[in-house]
Amino acid sequence: MNKERVKRILDVFDEMYPDAKCELVHQNELELLIAVMLSAQTTDASVNKLTASLFQKYRCVEDYANAPLSQLENDLRTIGLYRNKAKNIKAMAQKLLSDFDGKVPCDHETLQTLPGVGRKTANVVISEGFKVPAIAVDTHVERISKRLGLAFKKDTVLIVEKKLQKAIPQERWIKTHHQMIFFGRYHCKAVNPDCQHCSLIDICKEPKRKKYLNIKKD
Ligand code: SF4
Repeated sequence: MNKERVKRILDVFDEMYPDAKCELVHQNELELLIAVMLSAQTTDASVNKLTASLFQKYRCVEDYANAPLSQLENDLRTIGLYRNKAKNIKAMAQKLLSDFDGKVPCDHETLQTLPGVGRKTANVVISEGFKVPAIAVDTHVERISKRLGLAFKKDTVLIVEKKLQKAIPQERWIKTHHQMIFFGRYHCKAVNPDCQHCSLIDICKEPKRKKYLNIKKD
């Protein structure tokens, strides 16, 4: 990986989003885990709207484990894939109680033994909940990595994660992860990236940028 390219990208991220952080509202590791599980194919804003009342009703892991599935489904029905999410959250809470004394594990491998918890969710929980360096590759991080030449278009999510870990200093993983999400969510969007006002247009590999290459920024 070209070190100059990486430095340039990180400098721009620092300039644009010095305070980037997790936008899922949560008070503890359990709420974080639930919020991340709910966020699959759903915006953080929709999750926050739902959890504002959900976290008032479900105060501890037992509340999720013991809730009738139909009740949990009903409480999640405003977001996509709610049936599947309700089933996984209930099963996850039951496993937390049976195998982990009701506590959210702080290591990556153990987290992935929980129902509905994959690599990306585990990475978010360890980095945001326990401040263990990790880079969760979601749809924004994958797209940005490929557009900015930090990974190839054909790379799998796992390869993208490995390449980012290699290219970015470990002490920056958590911060850069949030900055990439902000960059993808608010600037370099999937359909309409703001190439006209992008400081990285000269090193970007996205074909959509071409029509703006010679336009002076306003
Ligand atoms: Fe994204 Fe456009 Fe900037 Fe490339 S030039 S990083 S596609 S906003």
